[in-house]
Amino acid sequence: MSQHRWLLTLCLLLLGAPSLASDASLHIVATTTQAADLAHILSAGVEDVQITPLMGAGVDPHLYQPTESDIAAMNQAQMVIYSGLHLEGQFDTVFAALAEQGISVYALSAPVKSAGFVIGGFDLSDELTDVDDPHFWFDPRNWQLTAQGLAERLAMLDPANAAAYKANADAYSEQLQQLFDWAEAGLGSVEAGQRYLVTSHDAFQYFGAAFGWQMQAIQGISTEDEAGVGDIQATVDFVLAHEIPVLFVESSVPPDTIEAVVAALRAQGHETRIGVRELYGDAMDAPGSFGGTYIGMLAQNALTIMQSYQCMGTRLTIPAWPADLLPAPPDELWNIDCHA
Ligand SMILES: [Zn+2]
Repeated sequence: MSQHRWLLTLCLLLLGAPSLASDASLHIVATTTQAADLAHILSAGVEDVQITPLMGAGVDPHLYQPTESDIAAMNQAQMVIYSGLHLEGQFDTVFAALAEQGISVYALSAPVKSAGFVIGGFDLSDELTDVDDPHFWFDPRNWQLTAQGLAERLAMLDPANAAAYKANADAYSEQLQQLFDWAEAGLGSVEAGQRYLVTSHDAFQYFGAAFGWQMQAIQGISTEDEAGVGDIQATVDFVLAHEIPVLFVESSVPPDTIEAVVAALRAQGHETRIGVRELYGDAMDAPGSFGGTYIGMLAQNALTIMQSYQCMGTRLTIPAWPADLLPAPPDELWNIDCHA
């Protein structure tokens, strides 16, 4: 959309363009794939809830511009759920306008921020310093807080179903605890001095803090900053200094910067490889697939890291999957070919 048309749409929104009545009693718009997944889980069994997702699989939320139809959908919703901490960097003006109109605009990061679990202190530019890291969902314990916070907000908007939202959040919290325990057992079985995660952009600080791994990313916490030659060289130096055997590409970021690091390492005779699969960064997979759920996304990332290191000869133990943790990873994720 051109800047002009986008501004026109925003003006219409600010002027209070008439909202169309929705058939559903509660119409929710969710920005990211994670937000849509959580809204579906918490509203399971509740009738007349309609959830409209905006961003699809593999979409980078830092760069995503709301389209005219996105703005129309949000304008007609009772509630807009977003991730927050400026993850959806292009939405700030739209969110303010929607809130002005009385639409419930809810940041999933809010309870994590209030609890003091947000990692801060990043500098994005001279003007924007001390910025919070927006990737809070990568610690399943943060996602437990998020689920409870969203259940409370849903109960406020739809008190008749408050008990259902609470029961769904409690049951899901138990699943998230099992997920955390499983991933911690596996990732923690790698010797402490070998736990390094090298990726395209800095999405995994919370993941690293949760499981005791050290992160190194080519780009910063937003993909809005372009990676330069210096960033590539800094990553090459880090990999050489710590003898890291494997680097990871993220599904929502182009692979070229990681490939440039691998090429530079090979030119210096360092044997390194790219992970056996891409990691889910800021977007999950398509709805209906294993990686299209939060549990599947996080489990697949943990498996991809463990299997990639195992392929390079690192000693570790991948724990058995808990029988009542769903969805379970499909067979093809367990059986990998290191030489593919
Ligand atoms: Zn990101």
